[in-house]
Amino acid sequence: MTFAELGLNPAILSAITACGYTIPTPIQEQSIPLVLAGNDVIATAQTGTGKTAAFVLPALELLTKKSILPGKGPRILVLAPTRELAGQVMESARNYGRGIRPRCGTLLGGMPYREQLRLLSAPVDIIVATPGRLVDHIERGSIRLDRLEMLVLDEADRMLDMGFSEDINKIVDRTPTNRQTLMFTATMEGDIALLAEKMMREPKRVQLAVSTSSHALIEQRLHVTDNLNHKKELLDHLVRDVELTRAIIFSATKRDADELSRELSRNGFPAAALHGDMTQMARNKTIDRMRRGGIRLLVATDVAARGLDVNGVSHVINFDLPRFAEDYVHRIGRTGRAGATGVAISFASAGERNYLERIERFIGKKLPELQIDGLEPKTSIRKPVGRSSAPRKSGSGAPSTRFGKPGVGRDSQAKPWSKSAKPAGSAPRPPKVRHEPVIEYRSRRPQA
Ligand code: AMP
Repeated sequence: MTFAELGLNPAILSAITACGYTIPTPIQEQSIPLVLAGNDVIATAQTGTGKTAAFVLPALELLTKKSILPGKGPRILVLAPTRELAGQVMESARNYGRGIRPRCGTLLGGMPYREQLRLLSAPVDIIVATPGRLVDHIERGSIRLDRLEMLVLDEADRMLDMGFSEDINKIVDRTPTNRQTLMFTATMEGDIALLAEKMMREPKRVQLAVSTSSHALIEQRLHVTDNLNHKKELLDHLVRDVELTRAIIFSATKRDADELSRELSRNGFPAAALHGDMTQMARNKTIDRMRRGGIRLLVATDVAARGLDVNGVSHVINFDLPRFAEDYVHRIGRTGRAGATGVAISFASAGERNYLERIERFIGKKLPELQIDGLEPKTSIRKPVGRSSAPRKSGSGAPSTRFGKPGVGRDSQAKPWSKSAKPAGSAPRPPKVRHEPVIEYRSRRPQA
């Protein structure tokens, strides 16, 4: 199917062509006709599948027809969980809408009110907002939603996870009941079904397979780790790989993100942190630096990286496993985007076994486990059944300093070196370890 066959306006079609898109992605192909026909639609799709265009394009199509309602409130409202994601939706609306020039803007928490009030003082077509700030505007009386034709909840599951349920209800209460409602979510679990039931009219369902179709181009690997120092050593090893051109490293906490990025920078790797404690300006600056190639390694938390759209991310490294399986899918979706291949590497210590099992159940397969000579785990999460060798890639040009403080951690401990990796009797590990005896573990069916 082509975009033209979807029945979109020529002005929108030429903007799509200018973006370099030739055919719709599966989520676009399935959702756009349903939305254009006026249905409420609930779509289960991850970032990286082209879901933004799946709602922005029909929303723009709607704007090609004049509104008969008086007033200046938005005709289209998109709610998004984070400022980054909202910013990217707005950017998409501007890109795809360049031929019809919609009046649009964002209402985001943490940003000055003055500009937002100016935006709302004139008629507007599309508003992309984070729920909290929109509720502020509703309560101040600075926005009215009685002209609204389409409400989109992007990453609805995430908004509920983040506690926006009450805000969403307040917003929905202010919108006309005959609006069209679209919901995009990674999962239908939890309160999502309830929310959909409450706010949607006979929604059509669009569902994309989670792992197989959207992540076919991502190679997923697991490294079992013993402790924090082991993780740091593995990370140090991995970031020296020449094939790692740009990586997002996920850590569990904001503090860890700061600490890791500092350590990486100290060791000569251009790195920066991205987390929710940073001002919006600092976050934007960091994302821009990454896009322009000034940062090779971005150490991020889930919330900050949600919806992050940086092309050319060769690797995603889960320094810590996410607590929610859906987050795993979101994280690895930062790589392997728009037809490129990518590598997603996860570290898992014994304490994260539950998270690992949850993830494997969710994606419906076991992550293949790899080991690196000299950096094998002492603990195991599963039993190895075989081993094969592959040469280490070298010559990253990165300094040879080891990650972490000298003399601290595993380097300073007596370590039983793997016989296959090193000749017996050699005491300290050589500065450059050989890459990468691969161990495929016997696939054990995930527990139900
Ligand atoms: P999303 O899932 O909306 O975050 O989109 C993921 C990436 O795919 C973005 O970089 C989009 O620009 C890109 N994209 C969206 N639709 C298409 C398409 N039909 N063809 C090629 N790339 C696309």
